[in-house]
Order: sequence, then C-alpha cells, then structure tokens
Amino acid sequence: MKIGPTTRTIAIVTVIVSAIMGSSHLIGNSSQQEHEQGRAAAGGYDSDAARGKRHRGAVDDGLGLSASPSGRARAKQSAASKPPPKPDTPAPPSAAAPGGPGPAHQGVPALPPLPAVFNQRVVVGPGKPPLMPDKAGPFGSRMTTGTLQVALTFDDGPDPKYTPEVLALLDEYQVKATFCVVGEMAAQFPELVREIVDEGHTLCNHTWNHDVALGTKSKAVIRADMQRTNDAIHRAVPDAKISYFRHPGGAWTQAAVDVAKELGMSSLHWAVDPQDWTKPGAPAIEKVVNTDTALGSIVLMHDAGGEREGTVTALKTILPDLEKRFALAALPPGIDEPKRHGIELPVHAGQK
Ligand SMILES: [Zn+2]
Repeated sequence: MKIGPTTRTIAIVTVIVSAIMGSSHLIGNSSQQEHEQGRAAAGGYDSDAARGKRHRGAVDDGLGLSASPSGRARAKQSAASKPPPKPDTPAPPSAAAPGGPGPAHQGVPALPPLPAVFNQRVVVGPGKPPLMPDKAGPFGSRMTTGTLQVALTFDDGPDPKYTPEVLALLDEYQVKATFCVVGEMAAQFPELVREIVDEGHTLCNHTWNHDVALGTKSKAVIRADMQRTNDAIHRAVPDAKISYFRHPGGAWTQAAVDVAKELGMSSLHWAVDPQDWTKPGAPAIEKVVNTDTALGSIVLMHDAGGEREGTVTALKTILPDLEKRFALAALPPGIDEPKRHGIELPVHAGQK
C-alpha cells in the first residue's frame, strides 16, 4: 500500500526540510528586521490598501512555488534586498509586486531555488493533498503539519468575546486556522461554530467540557464524550468535518488516541506553546511564537477559557510576522490520516 514511495517521499522531505532550516532562520532574521523597520517607518501597521494587496497576492497565487512559504519569503526578500533578482530565482509577480520594497539589506545572501518536491506536496488546506504522517507527539499524536506550512490552532472556544476578535484578525490577515472547540461551548454558541467553518477554518474536537482526566477513563466514557462533542458541533454545522482531536492539557493517553482514531480523528498535539492561557502578557506570547515557530510547526494558542486579551493583542504582531516568513494554513479536514483509517475503519460522517 504505497509504503515504499511514501516512505521515500517522507525521507526526501525530511532531509530537505532539515537542510533548509538554517536558511529559514536567515529569512526569519532578515524578515523580522525588515518588519521592525517597516513598522517604525509607518508608525504602526501598513496601510490597509497595501496590506490588502499583499495578502491577496499571497493567498491567490494558486498552487505551486508561489504558494510555498519559502518561495513567498524568498520573493519578498528578493524584492526587498536584491533589487535586480537573479534570473534563476523565480519571483512570482503577485507576491513580489505589492507591498513595496523595504530598506535594503546588506550582506544577506540570496537563497538557492527550492527543489521541485516542495511544490508538489506542501500545499495543505481544504481540498488539498493529505498531510505527511507525523507521530512524534505523545502516544503518536501529531506535532507538525509534516509540510512546510505552519498551522495556528486555537483552543477552548468558541468564546462570545474572544473568538470573534480572533476571527476578525485572521480575516484581516487572510489566515486560515484550526479551532479545537469544547462541546459545551459549541452547544452554547453554535453561531460561532458556523462562523468558524463559514470563514474557511477547520475544526478539532477538544472534549465536551475540557476534562483533563478524560483519557484516564474507560474507552466507553471517552467515546461518549468525544461523540457528544462532535454531535454538538454537527448540530451547529451538520456537514462539518471534524478530523482532529486534541486532549485537554495535552494529557494524552493511549486510550484517548485510540478512541479518537476509531471516530476518524487524528490526535493533534503541538510544537509551539506560548502558554498564553497563563496570561503572561502579549509580549511574552509574541516572543515565544515568533521565536519558536519553524517550518511545519503546529502552534497552540487559546481563543477562550478565560481572559484572552494578551492572545488577541499578540496576534496583531504574530500574524504579520509569521506571514512574512511562513505559509500559514488550516489543517486539512477529511483528507488526513482519518481517511487512511477509513480503509480499515468505517469512515466517520465528518471526514468524507
Ligand atoms: Zn484546552
């Protein structure tokens, strides 16, 4: 069942991703610098018009190279720091033209073109190819997207105050994310679940009432909790695809992972955790996310579960900063491992 080619592809991608990590840091540093300079010069955000143009260019450039994070980053870097781009460095016009070149950087070497393999498997999101497998998290849960894309995830909602604020910021920056919703919150605020889905974000089951000990209970109890949560989501959005499960508190157990799989959900851990639920303040949240996020990171944040002013404020910096360095994507519904599980298990209603 394609084990050979799949394994080979994973190996190739792993090697390539590892190989360019250093380059990504290079991009990140120069982009951060460029970003800081840009903000200082503009006295705040870019103009709405310039930002809108930039985002449309980044989002609507279709499949392939221009959609890859490094391609975009390199194009922007090239536009900013290398006025005469090298002919062998493809710079999509849609990404390079708007925004305007920032201050020139000295001594930042041009990056080599990316291998073609990046353009084939790195585009994720609804209707896109499956994610590479990743079982590096606790009990085989997923820690990364397995691609070059970065996925932002928001837990514990929906919340009547903060979820709309997060959604508005995601919309402003044209970023799609994944929301790990709590069943009783979904039951209480179904219109917010609908809004999440309508705006192109994807869903993850985060248990009925955020029971951190759920995984220690019997499989029957775990299954009933997860099913009740999915049912609440489906009452809000009948055809919602719920392809992920995240255990509260990261308190994974084998039983929780197994039952999630039975229900067609991949277990979703994370790679970057700013501990925003402890309310460390926006600067601390920004620092962790902007520093720790790397290619393929799944980033954990919270749009609910308490006062989330810090997270919302931090997003105003995090979104433009990460967007300069990475492609941000919602985790794809229905075409991740659950579909493969469907070979051996009944396909869950939410994953077709
Ligand atoms: Zn949580």
